[in-house]
Amino acid sequence: MADTAKLVCMTCGQANRVPLARLTERPICGSCGDPLITGKVAELDAATHDKATRGDDLPLLVDYWAPWCGPCRMMAPEFAKAAQTLGAKARLAKLNTEDHPTVSQRAGIRGIPALILYRKGREIARLAGARPAADIVAFVQSNTGAVPG
Ligand code: ZN
Repeated sequence: MADTAKLVCMTCGQANRVPLARLTERPICGSCGDPLITGKVAELDAATHDKATRGDDLPLLVDYWAPWCGPCRMMAPEFAKAAQTLGAKARLAKLNTEDHPTVSQRAGIRGIPALILYRKGREIARLAGARPAADIVAFVQSNTGAVPG
């Protein structure tokens, strides 16, 4: 299975296997038909967060935020810009820590915004505080190296 990547659908939570060669061809979920790689920031709930952070082969960057957090709201457009820039190289998602406090507790989040980069079911790096899009892209690239797609 080395030539496929496991990707959890951010809409329905279904795990999909996508051939690496097709990552840039807008793969869709076999269950609900939603696109798996959009270049946009997906909103996670606790269940999809757990599935995606534990199962995804592609780099997955999660922004832990809350509506009351000013710096979080300031960073949101930068995070969206980074998602667009990274395209099929990484998926970006956000989790509302106010709605899902147990998830952020489990992840050991002490302050927000906090970014955690996951790959192949493991945390590989984290970044604290609001960052511009260029910093977010550089953070992903420096921690993942060459990624197919
Ligand atoms: Zn789906």
